[in-house]
Amino acid sequence: MKRRPLVIGNWKMNGDRGAAVRLAAAAADVAAALSGVVDVGISPPAVWLERAAAVAGSARVLAQTSSEHTGGAHTGELSCAMLSEAGATGTLVGHSERRQFNGEDDAVVASKLREARESGLEVVLCVGESLEARDAGATLDVVEGQLEGALAALDQLAGIVIAYEPVWAIGTGRTATPEQAQEVHAAVRSWLARRFGEAAAAATRILYGGSVKGSNAAALLSCADIDGALVGGASLDAAEFAAICRAAAA
Ligand code: PEP
Repeated sequence: MKRRPLVIGNWKMNGDRGAAVRLAAAAADVAAALSGVVDVGISPPAVWLERAAAVAGSARVLAQTSSEHTGGAHTGELSCAMLSEAGATGTLVGHSERRQFNGEDDAVVASKLREARESGLEVVLCVGESLEARDAGATLDVVEGQLEGALAALDQLAGIVIAYEPVWAIGTGRTATPEQAQEVHAAVRSWLARRFGEAAAAATRILYGGSVKGSNAAALLSCADIDGALVGGASLDAAEFAAICRAAAA
């Protein structure tokens, strides 16, 4: 079964308001050009969600993180309802930078995922192993443990996208080979099939993330279980991001 590719640009904490509007408008153009063939998304800093969403056209707009709480005394946090009102239709959950630098463990990731789904946001659940884990041969143990930690309480996968992002490939310029990525993507899909059934696993998009660029996107995206990309650094360059989106269409 071929799933429609999804390519999302995660801008992280980069740029300014002008750049956000320009990148969002460029994403709108590529989303329109690839309409029905590739789904395009952007994940701007929260302060610019609303402005970016206003010019993003059919590109979907996702928050980079969202609170596990519905509301109340949580200084500095943003609820899923607030993010929706600002134009987000989805959110990243469990990005490795949040796990590493903001202390988000599997329990927090599971709570955030539950809250986002209950609020009607699409969830891009990020999983991936460290270099130490890969070198120790523990890649699949780590990834399956993160899937279990985040998804154990769910009874169905609707509204969930998985992003496999090896931590050693994020922002390092080092990319997993297509073979390395495909091996983990296939294992993720098997895990989903065991847990949620073949049909649900076959319908779920599994994105690859980790130094994806225009020059390596086609080889990665041609793999059977790679259904798109979560793009960090390269998504800050509109032409490069468009090239990745076009590679997904091939
Ligand atoms: C990311 O942070 O999700 C990511 C994949 O970053 P980069 O493309 O810069 O490695």
